[in-house]
Amino acid sequence: MNDTQTTPTPVIPADAVTPVAPAPAAAVPPKPVDDNPIVFYCKDCGEIVDVRRVGGKYVYTCKKCGTKNVAFGTKKSIYGFFKLEDKEKAKLREAKREEKRRMQMGDKSIKPRAS
Ligand SMILES: [Zn+2]
Repeated sequence: MNDTQTTPTPVIPADAVTPVAPAPAAAVPPKPVDDNPIVFYCKDCGEIVDVRRVGGKYVYTCKKCGTKNVAFGTKKSIYGFFKLEDKEKAKLREAKREEKRRMQMGDKSIKPRAS
């Protein structure tokens, strides 16, 4: 076997190819983050709630308790301000733990826990 490799040399006339410069990353406008919507937080309920807008003003009442003690902002800012992230995470962790416990107990042994 002869190992003479013939490397094909592409012959492309330079002026036949339109040089396409890769767009610099900075030139691409960042996509609007749809992950950060406006949320409403009722300070009385202590959670994210649905609200009803009062008149044409920026006044919102909580659909749950009816007070105007509602703050609103982007999800990020609200969560950051009221430190909801941790609560949510803790809730999630708790839910997962509960699920695990139920799985371990099996279907048959589901009984109302006597307190
Ligand atoms: Zn409320």
